[in-house]
Amino acid sequence: MAGERQADCLFCKIVAGEVPATVVRETETTLAFRDINPQAPTHVLVIPKVHYPDAATLAAAEPGIAADILRESAEVAAEDKTAGSGYRIIFNTGSGAGQTVFHAHAHVLGGRGFNWPPG
Ligand code: AMP
Ligand code: ZN
Repeated sequence: MAGERQADCLFCKIVAGEVPATVVRETETTLAFRDINPQAPTHVLVIPKVHYPDAATLAAAEPGIAADILRESAEVAAEDKTAGSGYRIIFNTGSGAGQTVFHAHAHVLGGRGFNWPPG
């Protein structure tokens, strides 16, 4: 069934509590935890509890949960007090764009300046 847990997925294991993470927010549908290799003072991953390989697949199958990811990303930024100075929400999609974990996730980055275009 679409969205079901994948045995070999790191983020499904974090949702199940089998791999530890520094959780900052949790809802019925989402989990937010600090990235293990932070690229900014705020670097939090917001993920759906259900498994989809990337953000677009999640949005096509479960648009409400995709919206939950965006809403929770804003809550994370507000809690880390980065919302006022601006923050980034990034969905790396595909290995060519740097995606390494194929369970949909938003990177929420804040607390420093950012260049445009991104690297
Ligand atoms: P991406 O490269 O967009 O797929 O992002 C995957 C992110 O997961 C990277 O920024 C990693 O640093 C992060 N990551 C990998 N393993 C863990 C972990 N156990 N806990 C928290 N973040 C992790
Ligand atoms: Zn997964």
